[in-house]
Amino acid sequence: MTDTVRGAAIKGVSRPSKRFSQDRVCSKPGCETRLSQYNKAEYCHAHAPIRFPRVRGKILDEQEA
Ligand SMILES: [Zn+2]
Repeated sequence: MTDTVRGAAIKGVSRPSKRFSQDRVCSKPGCETRLSQYNKAEYCHAHAPIRFPRVRGKILDEQEA
């Protein structure tokens, strides 16, 4: 009987190691914008992922189902 439980194989999530040193820069390749050590964001303001507020019935451009 092989009742192998594959529950401990959750190792795929490899996050970039957080290092809050004083020389943190934007994670964007080529961008050397320094980030504040108090800023937990990975990207500078120019490359930070912008989150548009989803308003119901407003933004429906990408819904072409
Ligand atoms: Zn940047």
